[in-house]
Amino acid sequence: MKKIEHIGIAVVNLKDASIIYEKLFGAPAYKEEEVLSEGVKTAFFRNGPNKIELLEATNLESPIAKFIAKKGEGIHHIAFEVEDILFEISRLKKEGFVILNELPKKGADNKLVSFLHPKETNGVLIELCQEIPQATLINNLEKDSNNE
Ligand code: ZN
Repeated sequence: MKKIEHIGIAVVNLKDASIIYEKLFGAPAYKEEEVLSEGVKTAFFRNGPNKIELLEATNLESPIAKFIAKKGEGIHHIAFEVEDILFEISRLKKEGFVILNELPKKGADNKLVSFLHPKETNGVLIELCQEIPQATLINNLEKDSNNE
């Protein structure tokens, strides 16, 4: 794994939270994006080399809605950038981690993402993310996940 790519924070209201984080960093979000498959709206902030992702649920089935119902607002996940997500998934599986989605899905910010179950990582949800290499790969992945 290369480095922490971003830290995800679950919020009740993205607009209200964005105002707070804009004040904190002295700069507005550089990207806002809805991820329909995950039921989330996101806003990304940059601070030096680091990124913060705010996430608001767009429906009650969203993992963010469930997280907030259980734990309230707060740090939701830590995302690590990886060179080759499929390689890392099989490596971590062999190490005994539980991968929530072995088929990486298209996440926010032009990334392929997979999550590790927090049970094996001391209560922290870990996201693996890889910059999307090419459009064709994504088309194939989406076709695959539609067939499930
Ligand atoms: Zn994330």
